Amino acid sequence: MPPVIFHVDMDAFFASVEQHDSPEYAGKPVIVGARPGHRGVVSTCSYEARAFGVRSAMPINEAARLCPQGIFLPVRMERYQDISNEVFSVLGDFTPQVDRVSIDEAFLDMSGTERLFGPPEDAGRALKKKIRESTGLTVSVGAGANRFIAKLASARSKPDGLIVVPSGGEESFMDALPLGKLWGAGEKTQERFRELNIRSVKELRGYDEGLLQRLFGQAMGGFLYMACRGLDCGMGRDEAPTSRSISTERTFEYDVIDQDSLEAVLLESAQELMFRLFTMGMQAMTVAIKLRYADFRTVSARKTQERAISSSDELYRHAVELFRKKRESGQAIRLLGLSVSGLEEGMETQGELFDTAKDSRLERAIFGLKKKSGSTMKKARNLRSGLDLNP
Ligand SMILES: [Mg+2]
Repeated sequence: MPPVIFHVDMDAFFASVEQHDSPEYAGKPVIVGARPGHRGVVSTCSYEARAFGVRSAMPINEAARLCPQGIFLPVRMERYQDISNEVFSVLGDFTPQVDRVSIDEAFLDMSGTERLFGPPEDAGRALKKKIRESTGLTVSVGAGANRFIAKLASARSKPDGLIVVPSGGEESFMDALPLGKLWGAGEKTQERFRELNIRSVKELRGYDEGLLQRLFGQAMGGFLYMACRGLDCGMGRDEAPTSRSISTERTFEYDVIDQDSLEAVLLESAQELMFRLFTMGMQAMTVAIKLRYADFRTVSARKTQERAISSSDELYRHAVELFRKKRESGQAIRLLGLSVSGLEEGMETQGELFDTAKDSRLERAIFGLKKKSGSTMKKARNLRSGLDLNP
């Protein structure tokens, strides 16, 4: 029996939470992120805002220019984490094999669950319904024999969609995909397609692997060879998740070059991971980043600190340091991951946890440890925000 993998991805997650919590925002262009007039970027925007050309990772001031009537809101990480926990608790009812990719995205191994939940179409529908009932939000689900196909299927089904690619149906699914929508093939690769007069995924399949690697470079050529056949091509994690590490990854819709935007992703990732460490009662010693360039080369870097990391601000600074050292300047980036490992029991005393934080009031606001006063919320609002690049 071929494996059955689901890719589950909340639709415009942060913006949808805001629209759900404030029904007066429903149907309106909601833009979650930095504050207009300040540095920073769009984290997530609603589908209504996307219609104005607003995108994740876009500088917030450009979003304000494109969509002056937009409703600009700060990132409320604590609230999104609460909803995320509800979503993941629903996912856990369907399979114990949940690989959390980020706050709003996961791969589920649904192999062998047919007896319990029926065929993937039924399981997918049930899962969507349960998430909707428990959170009021919509999710898109893609199913297939590997992670690559599942991820493409969920992206294709958005918003509120469900696409199941049957085993053996990978090539015809890929053939229906415009070449311009081939995940992982960014602007440069698209340009190369045009130069070589390759117009479809099907035509791409006519090239053998060695030729693709000569034409596109080793990593990208290898990726394209697998991708146009709908085979798994390193979409999932490179290493199995363990109980001794936690991680989060963002796969971008397009190649991101801007340093500020990428560092904003790291900030949001750091907040997400610190929140999870905190709720697990754990602390971490080692920080690692993972980068995938537009040409599909994947690199990583890690560093073990002398003492446990005590705040998301500190984690962010370590991550940025690694990132600046590792990143080849000017190279467009497709995926950015942050992980912490060397986990130990700890963080029992909340006071201690935040004492070393440069801005402990802000930290408390983020983690909801303190009743929010007007001033802490204002600070949180000024925080440069990160991104949800899988709308
Ligand atoms: Mg999403």
